[in-house]
Amino acid sequence: MTPNISELHSATVQLSQLKLKQEGSLPKLYEIRPAGPGKGLGAFAIQPIKRGTRILAEAPLLSIAQSEYLEGDIQRSFDKLSAEDKAKYFTLHSNHGQDPKNWPSTIHPRTHEAERQRIEEQHNSRVGDKATILSIFQTNCMEHERGAAVFMDASRFNHSCISNAFFSWNSNIGKETIHAIVDILAGEEITLCYCDALWDTHMRNWALKHYGFRCACRACGEMVPGSFAAQSHSRRYRMRELQERLDGHGKSLRKFDKVDTAAAVSDAVEMCALLVEEGLFTAELGKAYDDLAIVCEQAGDLRFGYAAACKELEVYETILGSDHPEVESASGLVRRLKKKKLDGEK
Ligand SMILES: [Zn+2]
Repeated sequence: MTPNISELHSATVQLSQLKLKQEGSLPKLYEIRPAGPGKGLGAFAIQPIKRGTRILAEAPLLSIAQSEYLEGDIQRSFDKLSAEDKAKYFTLHSNHGQDPKNWPSTIHPRTHEAERQRIEEQHNSRVGDKATILSIFQTNCMEHERGAAVFMDASRFNHSCISNAFFSWNSNIGKETIHAIVDILAGEEITLCYCDALWDTHMRNWALKHYGFRCACRACGEMVPGSFAAQSHSRRYRMRELQERLDGHGKSLRKFDKVDTAAAVSDAVEMCALLVEEGLFTAELGKAYDDLAIVCEQAGDLRFGYAAACKELEVYETILGSDHPEVESASGLVRRLKKKKLDGEK
């Protein structure tokens, strides 16, 4: 039945009230303050924060629409800011002043011109002797739609390879959000993982070098046999292998090739277990449950597939909030598998 105008209006009002509740009235759960020697500023919980709580929802200070951007693109966006926002921008941290010896001194001759320009601009901003619009952007940018953006508060949260919070751009509300992925104690630093959590220690350190620091979390500690760092290194190496195998199963499924579903289910179960063991309650865990739900569906195990889809939905609701597009997609999978499961039980 088609809803009438007053029903539509009432639904719209309810939706906008819900959005206001979710994005407009967040209590201040953190403070920005010095994080210790060599760490600049960081965000700290000012009260206990429960897992799944939205800690922040923030619009960008400066954003770039494309992923391949040059210094001129950032300059043009900066020029459009108000004088007050330009001043705020220059209060953000800059990772300039790095030792040029830590970076390659030549660019491969086959690199095309625009890419060469991008590499040179970014290198010059890193080794330069003062903060620039580009050096601040490089230090603080986060993913935003198909490009990148900097934020006054979100950009100040420091990194940990085993973070206690998760950040994501929410296109439904037009804001960057940060959610607690575990319970956080009052006074504890709130951290985000800036790089691909499945990378091993060496790859993470390479990625983090671009931000101008070396991570000191327990996954990056001294790799003596039996230490958490050594276990973490081998776990993440194994997770990378499993991810490649699961991506391979996914490609075969899309091409309607024959898939060893028992092996795929086993890989997906191992992946979920390793992520939980490592403490990575992040989008990687949501994706792993999604892979598990899909391969179980292929294997005809709808009961287990439905359970995995419910776990995926729970992870995404916790780390992204119920108003995120990924949650809509995960809800669709839960509904589909529930229906197939019930149809099969008739
Ligand atoms: Zn680390």
